[in-house]
Amino acid sequence: MVGEVELPKPKMKVKQKLHQAIDLLYCHGPASFDDYTRLVLHCARANDFIQAKRLQSHMELYLFQPKDSFIHNQLLHLYAKFGKLSDAQNLFDNMTKRDVYSWNALLSAYAKMGMVENLHVVFDQMPYRDSVSYNTLIASFTSNGHSGKALKVLVRMQEDGFQPTQYSYVNALQACSQLLDLRHGKQIHGRIVVADLRENTFVSNAVTDMYAKCGYMDRARWLFDGMINKNVVSWNLMISGYVKMGNPDECIHLFNEMQLSGLKPDLVTISNVLNAYFQCGKLDDARKIFCELPKKDEVCWTIMIVGYGQNGREEDALMLFGDMLRRNVKPDSYTISSVVSSCAKLASLHHGQVVHGKVIVMGVDSNMLVSSALVDMYCKCGVTLDAWVIFETMPIQNVITWNAMIMGYAQNGQVLEALTLYENMQQQKIKPDKITFMGVLSACINAGMVKEAQKYFYSISEQGMTPTLDHYACMVTLLGWSGSIDKAVDLIQGMPLEPNSHIWSTLLSVCSKSDLKSAELAASHLFELDPHNAGPYIMLSNLYAACGRWKDVAVVRSLMKENNAKKFAAYSWVEVENEVHRFVSNDHSHPEVGKIYGELNKLILILQQIGYNPDTNIVLHNVGEEEKVRSISYHSEKLALAFVLVRKPNGVAPIRIIKNIRVCDDCHVFMKFASITIARPIIMRDSNRFHHFFGGKCSCKDNW
Ligand SMILES: [Zn+2]
Ligand SMILES: [Zn+2]
Repeated sequence: MVGEVELPKPKMKVKQKLHQAIDLLYCHGPASFDDYTRLVLHCARANDFIQAKRLQSHMELYLFQPKDSFIHNQLLHLYAKFGKLSDAQNLFDNMTKRDVYSWNALLSAYAKMGMVENLHVVFDQMPYRDSVSYNTLIASFTSNGHSGKALKVLVRMQEDGFQPTQYSYVNALQACSQLLDLRHGKQIHGRIVVADLRENTFVSNAVTDMYAKCGYMDRARWLFDGMINKNVVSWNLMISGYVKMGNPDECIHLFNEMQLSGLKPDLVTISNVLNAYFQCGKLDDARKIFCELPKKDEVCWTIMIVGYGQNGREEDALMLFGDMLRRNVKPDSYTISSVVSSCAKLASLHHGQVVHGKVIVMGVDSNMLVSSALVDMYCKCGVTLDAWVIFETMPIQNVITWNAMIMGYAQNGQVLEALTLYENMQQQKIKPDKITFMGVLSACINAGMVKEAQKYFYSISEQGMTPTLDHYACMVTLLGWSGSIDKAVDLIQGMPLEPNSHIWSTLLSVCSKSDLKSAELAASHLFELDPHNAGPYIMLSNLYAACGRWKDVAVVRSLMKENNAKKFAAYSWVEVENEVHRFVSNDHSHPEVGKIYGELNKLILILQQIGYNPDTNIVLHNVGEEEKVRSISYHSEKLALAFVLVRKPNGVAPIRIIKNIRVCDDCHVFMKFASITIARPIIMRDSNRFHHFFGGKCSCKDNW
């Protein structure tokens, strides 16, 4: 409630008139007390600092000594309002007559500049004070985060014999909210009741807000329901309280009630309600309110863009961002970083680069939030070089930036770079966190470095942290791949944490047909923890199939049916001509379906001539060989590749394919061969990591 005082924009005409009047003054020489009084009041009303300064100079020029402090006090208050501390101090020092108004003006000049340390000095020098002096101090301490001091001033105010006013109480209550100090808050509430200020809406709002911010929503609601004169602020603080508590339904309920009560919601209400809709995933409702807004501010735009990004609607977020720019609404660094993250999630290099351009034009490229997001975006698009340039040129980096770069290198298979960067980070005395170690361990996974990984894994505890389930999952992967499934099982069974489905599915995924026992152990846990996920059933029956144990395959498949387990929809997407195209396996929904299948069949024939042999081992069913080949030929990533070749047959730029689950063995081999014949790099991001295919090889060295 105590914020920047918005200075009203003076009307041009008034300003011009004032300017002319003071010009006239300079033509005429000395003026009377009445003239000066009239002019100083005009300056105050027009909020015109420059003319006020000219007026002061005129008085000094003609050695005018006012008979009281009125004129100088007016100037002082104006200087304080503009934060012109040295002008205020100079004038104050040269005043022959000072009263409590002069002192209060000086005090508010210091308060305006946030010079909290000097406030007490001025305050203690004051020969006389009134309640305004105390209130200035309380408000200034509160708004500068010295809440404890603010509360002490309230106590002193009463000890010095002054009755606190509504402003004293409201600011002191804010101080209590900042400190989450319910005890003092309740005491102040008690005094307000005694002072009979309960029907004062301004004060009641502050009391309610204090309870809400201290987490006592029920108490706040009780007070709110009992309020006689609710205004928009009253509704807003309850609505935002519910959003912060993560109770979007109550927030929306109140919003509807507010409209029924006939009060018009303002932009604060709307932004809270939009947040509530995003919290509970009601994206269309949010969109509806947003579209109906006659005036949208940058806060609403940002909430929509961030909300879409967080709810998996990155394309909508980007579209909305474009609209925002077209309407000349200026995004802030928070909006930008959210948009960059959406580009990263889509791995849309084109959009990412466009936004990067905007970032440079807007001059927010040195903002840490934005730079970290850009580093992450370039890494997720597989362009670590561009990420590195941003990382290197950042004036300061924090752990988030380092993590983005280390993780980026790790996921792109640049193991050495990732580990070197981690060593640099240590040398620069930047404390790694849990995410740093995820990056380091992922790098080790990419290079199959078991021993090094173990060293890093132990150093998590050495640095005073507890390894998370994700860290354990990395170790399980590494041990599994290096053929030490038994050690992986031992690690899981000796974990201080309860293994979750992620740990067991990691174990299952590293089991080969010779590790059936461990695979069965993992699967049995998964069937219990996550019975409706088809993944584990398919993985286990694949292993049985690989051993030719068709009876067991049938048992697992019937169990899967019994538990009504569903396959997680797998899809791949590519960006062509700034548009994102999504494919599922055996997809026939694309308008260019004929051309795509034609291109893919042609490519398969060419690849078979240079040694590609469809790997049908991964096919679950006990079906004929021809049928097996057909079922793997049209996986979504192959369709996506064919589509790019249809649209851009002679391109040279890398082809970027994103897949939402792990790439299968056959598609991995297929992409390696394809990178030879089409002579273009293929960069594929699956749910685990990046694969840079070029010249028949993959950067993951077939570990993924
Ligand atoms: Zn595949
Ligand atoms: Zn690979």
